[in-house]
Amino acid sequence: MAGLLFVISGPSAAGKGTICKRVLAETDLELSVSATTRKPRPGEEHGREYYFLTEEEFVALIENNGFVEHVENFGCRYGTLVSDVQERMARGKDVILEIDVQGGYLVREKFPDCILIFLIPPTPEELERRIRNRGTEDEESIQNRLQTARREVKCIKDYDYLVINDDLDVAVEDTKAVIRAERCRVAEDKCSSIEQIFKES
Ligand code: 5GP
Repeated sequence: MAGLLFVISGPSAAGKGTICKRVLAETDLELSVSATTRKPRPGEEHGREYYFLTEEEFVALIENNGFVEHVENFGCRYGTLVSDVQERMARGKDVILEIDVQGGYLVREKFPDCILIFLIPPTPEELERRIRNRGTEDEESIQNRLQTARREVKCIKDYDYLVINDDLDVAVEDTKAVIRAERCRVAEDKCSSIEQIFKES
């Protein structure tokens, strides 16, 4: 059976990266590593946080249909690699994508059964504090990210689940609870293979 595809979206600095790391450490989910033309931040590694590509490399992948989806964000390109996602799902692995809201909509067009989880900090003030504390963005980029966040929250209604990242431990548990519930969901392919097993026994 093909694996499930989880998408975790939410404003920049909502805590997606931190929560994904914890969920990956505590479950057998696999993270799909995106490609970007953004420069690595201190401590980021090629192939771990992102595949850091040049503009030319990124465009070549678009032309070769190498992306499930790709968007332009804050002046840089970001994209989910077909190779990374489909290979994992074909092995029956459940995959998680940590991408923005535009990307979430595009993934749902290609994978209608994907599960969309929206992550948000408890207040806009807390979001701003987290972006500023990260200390990696200049003022223009901070304002850009806050503006994008105001737009993104209007999309919550199209998502399947909302996780509020106030207390990190609770947010991690909530995300894991969504994953567990979705794994127990009755699905047609699951039913027929179980019927088959019971018929044979
Ligand atoms: P950052 O530059 O802070 O790492 O990421 C900026 C935004 O791009 C975040 O909201 C992040 O989730 C999103 N992002 C990262 N990878 C992808 C991707 O492959 N596709 C899309 N659509 N968004 C992505």
